[in-house]
Amino acid sequence: MKNFMVSRYAALEAYVPGEQPRDMEYVKLNTNESPFPPAPGVMAAINGEELEKLKLYSDPEGKDLRDAIAAHFGVKRENVLLGNGSDEILAFAFFAFCAGEKVLFPDITYGFYPVYSELVGANAEIIPLKEDFSIDINKYMGDRGMVVIANPNAPTGMALPLADIEKIVAANPSNVVLVDEAYVDFGGESAVNLVKKYENLIVARTFSKSRSLAGARLGFGIASEGLIADMNKIKYSLNPYNINRLTLLAGKASIEDVEYFEKNVRAIIEAREYTVSELRTRGFTVLESKANFVFAAKEGKSGEELYRELKARGVLVRHFTKERIKDYLRITIGTKEQMNVLLCKLDEII
Ligand SMILES: *Cc1c(COP(=O)(O)O)cnc(C)c1O
Repeated sequence: MKNFMVSRYAALEAYVPGEQPRDMEYVKLNTNESPFPPAPGVMAAINGEELEKLKLYSDPEGKDLRDAIAAHFGVKRENVLLGNGSDEILAFAFFAFCAGEKVLFPDITYGFYPVYSELVGANAEIIPLKEDFSIDINKYMGDRGMVVIANPNAPTGMALPLADIEKIVAANPSNVVLVDEAYVDFGGESAVNLVKKYENLIVARTFSKSRSLAGARLGFGIASEGLIADMNKIKYSLNPYNINRLTLLAGKASIEDVEYFEKNVRAIIEAREYTVSELRTRGFTVLESKANFVFAAKEGKSGEELYRELKARGVLVRHFTKERIKDYLRITIGTKEQMNVLLCKLDEII
């Protein structure tokens, strides 16, 4: 078959999402979704009247939702940009701030960074994590290009203190520092308040993990007005109506229900601490997690083997083939009941 794809994408390796299997019901601990339903207000907001309005375009500026997010975080509407998932915020940032130029990120991190880097023709400097899987902040101090850090990092779950993030932001005044806080609600320290102090900082957040809205596709960036305007230029050059009407409503209802959100986050953190301690009792090495997943390995069993044996028993986790982490499993934290199923299946296997 003739190849029509332009040559500059010949080396592009697309992102591979975690499985969303249809063959049977798994205990699904592989893509860091929430085990809890969205806030009750979300269900109420998406009613018949709103469904009828699907004949009309959504608000390209997403004003109501941006106002709700701005109020929640104590910033202005002009500091908020909405994305179709925070993946889209990351994409806007890569297009706007490192296309054809330099970008720095760790060797072990979110798999989308190398993909976006290749897509926009950036020159990536990939910096190895330290031996203990922590981020070596001293390697990001040169003001050499855009810096992308997930905090907490994925798939390790390990978090940097806010003071370290600030050091990186302060040391890169002529470049953008993008801090991906997809998991920050589960115990990390957010850099959102630094946005007022540093015009080169973007914080990317998502409704997919702590807010139970992975399927609605909603994320947002918080940054200085200048950076938001730059990313808006990319958005209006690709897809002005990037957030659909129903998702705009869902997001607003979700962000306004603080109590429900906090209750769910507390339950996940509690189930995580329980899981970490139970795994360690069973001889697993478990990294210190501030996320809604844990990264764990068991000596004498390969990650691949554990993944397959768990799947055969109806428990789905994520395994990565990259050399440095191939013995680890990334296990999403679900309800305590789900975690007990996982532990019980592990007891059968080992
Ligand atoms: C899940 C995740 C995201 C984004 O997910 P969306 O569903 O696109 O909001 C971004 N960064 C990291 C590190 C993630 O794990």
